[in-house]
Amino acid sequence: MVDYSTNTSHTHFNKALFLDRDGVIVNYVPYLSKPEQVKLPSGAGEALRQWQDAGYLLIIITNQAGVGRGYYSLQDVEKVHCYIQQQYSYFGVFFTDIFVCPHRPDDKCFCRKPSPEMLINASNKHHIVLSQSFFIGDAFSDLEAAIRANCKPILVLTGRGLETVKKLAQYPIQIKVFKELFETVKLIN
Ligand SMILES: [Mg+2]
Ligand SMILES: [Zn+2]
Repeated sequence: MVDYSTNTSHTHFNKALFLDRDGVIVNYVPYLSKPEQVKLPSGAGEALRQWQDAGYLLIIITNQAGVGRGYYSLQDVEKVHCYIQQQYSYFGVFFTDIFVCPHRPDDKCFCRKPSPEMLINASNKHHIVLSQSFFIGDAFSDLEAAIRANCKPILVLTGRGLETVKKLAQYPIQIKVFKELFETVKLIN
């Protein structure tokens, strides 16, 4: 009998690639709520497969204020996520977990990005070392959440990325910028 008991949370740690959803792993559509609106960016499946093969857990971190605003339900979000998972599964890509903040900004919840809360919860749940992990996003709130969680921020210029990159000059820390998700595989060593 093999004893796996050393492979526990006390001794085994993971690294993760955290991913924003809209404008990063699916093409940006404001308040996307239906599977038929989901389109993967070109090269995204292959890119995430490479990150996964390099040993990164893939975890989606998404704000869905459309739920809190009553535009769509959490069940709609789950249907969209099932569809996204199915589309990526054709590339052999598996998402370890998906964290959703369904609140509106004025709900003053603890989870909504730029809060690092969802990253910290993911880290506790899956034994992730945040300083060894990346967070790819297209919005300023993604970068800020990453920085506050001590996780490495990456900006892609898809989705709202072109607007976000203009604000970067104000930030004291250096942030890696890539035109598209596919190009981020350059960071895998
Ligand atoms: Mg986004
Ligand atoms: Zn929230």
